Amino acid sequence: MTQRPRPALRIVPPPEPPPRRDPPILLVRDLPSPNHDARPEGTPVDMLILHYTGMKSCQDALDRLTDPAAQVSSHYVVDEDGTVYRLVPEERRAWHAGVSHWRGHAALNGRSIGIEIVNPGHEWGYRDFPVMQMAAVADLCLAILSRHLIPPRNVIGHSDVAPDRKEDPGERFDWEGLALNGIGLWPEDAPDIGTTGAIRDAATLRPVRAALAAIGYRVAPEGPLDPALASVLRAFQRHWRPEAITGQADDGTLVRLLAVSKLVGSGS
Ligand SMILES: [Zn+2]
Repeated sequence: MTQRPRPALRIVPPPEPPPRRDPPILLVRDLPSPNHDARPEGTPVDMLILHYTGMKSCQDALDRLTDPAAQVSSHYVVDEDGTVYRLVPEERRAWHAGVSHWRGHAALNGRSIGIEIVNPGHEWGYRDFPVMQMAAVADLCLAILSRHLIPPRNVIGHSDVAPDRKEDPGERFDWEGLALNGIGLWPEDAPDIGTTGAIRDAATLRPVRAALAAIGYRVAPEGPLDPALASVLRAFQRHWRPEAITGQADDGTLVRLLAVSKLVGSGS
């Protein structure tokens, strides 16, 4: 070692401890709706149902969802700028799903929490859900899921539980992004392989009907492609194969159907 110069000492403070991480706070504006009643006794809250408002503006939707004459409501409304409103307390039954079925249960308002997400919908100019809105939806869902035992397969859209009459929240809704945050199911490694190869006859459709039923849709076990099955296929596509809404059991749909069935079969 060569001769070193004599050093002066400088005393420095210890490194700063990392900042404490408080959980993020989602501000929710209280906007009570009169449209609710008691949940049926002994029924668990085990579903989260997502909607779009399907009205021209957020204000139109808030007015309707709080109008006693309309007899409709939801627990929450999320505006396009991310503002969240609470209309009905979670322990009460809001009136958002109407006639509905999932996994053998009916009248799902009794066991679900409903979120209305502002979007004009297919009737008034369906458009993308803004990033700020989806961030608020994700935060709100995570807060709800932390308070209730809701399995991922029970986080679904209105069209999933009422496929014959509903299209919301629709194919522009980012189910994949929500699933990345642990909200709902999304299959990995199931690329869209297109719309060829649609099958229509009863025998070949039997396993398709069985897979849809295993996921939770209400579907008859037998029969050729009929309007009821086509509407269930469209509902499945709006949720899990948004690249093409065909109402057909085509190749791309079957790949996703198999992938979602596997997730459900694995107990998700
Ligand atoms: Zn709806």
